[in-house]
Amino acid sequence: MLQYFRNIWEGFWTPLVGLSMTWRKLFVPSVTMQYPEERWELPTNSRMQLFVNMDDCIGCLQCERACPVQCISIDTVKAIPDEVEETTTGHKKRLHVTKFDIDMVKCCYCDLCTFPCPTECIYMTPSFEDSSPDRYGLVYHFVNMTPQRAAELEEKARQFDAAEAARKAKASEKSATATA
Ligand code: SF4
Ligand code: SF4
Repeated sequence: MLQYFRNIWEGFWTPLVGLSMTWRKLFVPSVTMQYPEERWELPTNSRMQLFVNMDDCIGCLQCERACPVQCISIDTVKAIPDEVEETTTGHKKRLHVTKFDIDMVKCCYCDLCTFPCPTECIYMTPSFEDSSPDRYGLVYHFVNMTPQRAAELEEKARQFDAAEAARKAKASEKSATATA
């Protein structure tokens, strides 16, 4: 008989003990963050996704050389003098950047690529939420140049170099004749 009443008492008491935590938490501020409506404020020097402002990239390859995991891949073609533009930092753009890829799957967020950049055009952004259903979606292509356009630029540079070499050969031939 005593056991019978004890069981009834425990039937009431046990849920009350279980709910005591719930009751206590009802009256303190919530610690759950309602992501994505709410977000953590990240430290100012956080390392996140990279971005390259191609308008200011001079194709110097310093970032590519600094990367310890070789996840930056850049191709360049020499610009002929008429095509040389200037960056906002006043650097001459003597090269066309025909490819600038960063494989963010390999990237270890070390930030080493950003320091040597002479025009400060490669930097880490506050964004950390990019995702992709496959790993190729995380290869960022900062240049959208077709292979045909890159080949055209290459051919133009080759023709310019050939014309320059011919002009120099002619000039040195002329000076040799004059000396003789
Ligand atoms: S952050 Fe580091 S690993 Fe990532 S691209 Fe730059 S140098 Fe390479
Ligand atoms: S270091 Fe800067 S300017 Fe040079 S290739 Fe890299 S992003 Fe472009």
